[in-house]
Amino acid sequence: MFENIRKQLEEREQQIVTRIQNIDADKTKEDGPLNADSEEQVVELENIEVLDGLDEMSREELADIRAALDKIADGSYGTCTDCNESIPIKRLEALPNAIRCIQCEEKSEQAG
Ligand SMILES: [Zn+2]
Repeated sequence: MFENIRKQLEEREQQIVTRIQNIDADKTKEDGPLNADSEEQVVELENIEVLDGLDEMSREELADIRAALDKIADGSYGTCTDCNESIPIKRLEALPNAIRCIQCEEKSEQAG
């Protein structure tokens, strides 16, 4: 069960791990002393901010993917983490790292 979804998740996990490594490498480059030119400094600081944002998003997605893989492994995949209702298979196919039903996902997004 969920064999195709598990494969998708594993591929996605690999892509994100690679992306995080690239982001970290870019950040190390930007970490050097700031350019003496103040306009250049602004650009460098903006780059670091963008990279930090990407980094954070990627790590969150990675955490979701790993949570979904754990759930496939322990047999609880496809069940909402919050309300224990089944998550429709269409939602799982569209969003394999979904661990909540749409209603609970909306609530959790509103809660922040
Ligand atoms: Zn739910």
